[in-house]
Amino acid sequence: MSTSCTHIVPVHTGDYPEDEAKAMEVLAWFQARGLVETDLSDCTLGKPGYRFTPEIGPLFIEAPDPRSQDLLTRGLELHHGERVVFHPAEGAQLSFICPSCGHDQGWDALESIGDWYSRVEDCPRCPACGARHHINEYGTDCGGTDTPWAFSNLAITFWNDQGGAFQPGFLEAMRGLFGTDIRVVEVHI
Ligand SMILES: [Zn+2]
Repeated sequence: MSTSCTHIVPVHTGDYPEDEAKAMEVLAWFQARGLVETDLSDCTLGKPGYRFTPEIGPLFIEAPDPRSQDLLTRGLELHHGERVVFHPAEGAQLSFICPSCGHDQGWDALESIGDWYSRVEDCPRCPACGARHHINEYGTDCGGTDTPWAFSNLAITFWNDQGGAFQPGFLEAMRGLFGTDIRVVEVHI
């Protein structure tokens, strides 16, 4: 089994308010359902996280391979505080399509993404038509056929869930918790 992770990221402008409190609320949602262990452990490749229990299985359309429960890296990581660019694996394509004119600036958008990350400018200008849009309004998923990029100071990351697509009901619950639309960013390492 290869290592992978999946970010679930709220879609919003500015910074997500009271991000640490919201991360704790999402963690409480998982813990109340027995989906993760109570205590932090070294179960992710990022910060310490909360190890998945076998109860995590029903969040997915197809149940994860039971052997995945033995993986050392398998748990939930919380992100809050710093802004993070959540993107698919290295080698992935970047499309960055203007919602006004449809121009795709591709990798040239890295400068705009850097400006968002360093809080210089949240609303980059399209080089083709000159319109400004919030970074989240540019299309990064090739019209729905590719993994989107996501931009936030708040997210949760599933490490090595080995479960494939999430159940629609789970994604709806996450939209409700965040109070926003969400993006699911799958990363293969
Ligand atoms: Zn444009």
